[in-house]
Amino acid sequence: METQPRAKIKKATTYDYTSYEAGKSSNGGAYGFWTKYSYIGEGRYEVHHGTTADFEYCPYCGNFGDCDCDIPDVVKEAEVWQAIKDALKESSSEIYAEYELFKNHKEWVEKLRRRVRDALNKTVNDTQIINCAFNLDVKVF
Ligand SMILES: [Zn+2]
Repeated sequence: METQPRAKIKKATTYDYTSYEAGKSSNGGAYGFWTKYSYIGEGRYEVHHGTTADFEYCPYCGNFGDCDCDIPDVVKEAEVWQAIKDALKESSSEIYAEYELFKNHKEWVEKLRRRVRDALNKTVNDTQIINCAFNLDVKVF
């Protein structure tokens, strides 16, 4: 019998392109940055940093220049969730997150369905209903 992995997130990458400028992104001081989280088992993730800059950059600590790091940071899933939440909360096209989940969609859809029903059963105004429908790409008219 195949056991379901306890972790929900398989991979995640958060991007910060707030300082990025196309003509200055390799050596002009306006770089993009990203942080990658990869599941390595037992609820742990390896962290790798990257940049659009052409300079020496440490993938382990995310600093420019030569450094002595030789192993990546390892974090727990809660930190990965937090990084994703922070990136989504910014709601800027320059800061965003991409992630891949372990296939657990059925369970998640059920949970989401219950939560949405509970939320909609509370007093909601027309604006909230329209916004919710819009976000879920549901036609209400
Ligand atoms: Zn380093």
